[in-house]
Amino acid sequence: MSPAGKDRHARALTRSRMRMVARDLAPRGNLDEAVLEAMATVPREAFVPPEYAHRAYEDGPLPIGEGQTISQPYVVAVMASAAELTPVDQVLEVGTGSGYGAAILAQLARQVYTIERHANLATEARQRFEDLGYRNIDVTIGDGTLGLPSRGPFDAIVVTAGAPSEPPPALLEQLAPGGRLIIPTGDTRYHQELTRIRRSPDGTEFKREPLGGTRFVPLIGEAGWTNDHPLANTGPPRDTE
Ligand code: SAM
Repeated sequence: MSPAGKDRHARALTRSRMRMVARDLAPRGNLDEAVLEAMATVPREAFVPPEYAHRAYEDGPLPIGEGQTISQPYVVAVMASAAELTPVDQVLEVGTGSGYGAAILAQLARQVYTIERHANLATEARQRFEDLGYRNIDVTIGDGTLGLPSRGPFDAIVVTAGAPSEPPPALLEQLAPGGRLIIPTGDTRYHQELTRIRRSPDGTEFKREPLGGTRFVPLIGEAGWTNDHPLANTGPPRDTE
């Protein structure tokens, strides 16, 4: 592509991103202003496989390999808003996937730690962060159901895969007093209630608030679902999550 063509292409993508925010996100009325700004800034096309780049600003999930998906923009925005982040916060994301969600969180918080069980996805995401100049995202390959005790406690923990009804105990333990755990929980692998669990300022209580129904890929790990299910690594049906 010629330099002029590249320029036109970049401008068209920016327009599509603005349109997504104006048409699919802002009118819902429940999203934080700083989150809308972050969604208007992060280039989602850089987080999807090249063959899906033209669909980057549809408000839906897309395949990213390993049977996993980049989440629907609206769901990413709901989770980031629910986390109530401030610029001094330290956040843990469980389920790096493409890295898009972590990039949104990194616009809102001081430091983001993100953990992914698929080494290929983690490595690709790390490369994207480097290419895009993110300096406040740290990627770990591992089982996020155990959290990241060496880096905690966290002001917020955002889990982007569907957990069983009882959230992983390590994530509750690694939540700072006053911290928020945003996690889809359910008693089946593909239907969950997005839940915010808030730790009291004195650290002794955890209060659960339902935030709506979701369909995430399963959270696989020691304190999640097992990996021996025939659909363990299969993404959900289209138009979900
Ligand atoms: N935040 C991602 C994005 O923006 O692309 C979406 C991630 S996708 C819906 C969920 C991810 O969680 C998948 O990449 C999956 O491999 C990962 N995952 C599932 N169980 C996990 C675990 N125990 N630890 C870390 N990652 C896990």
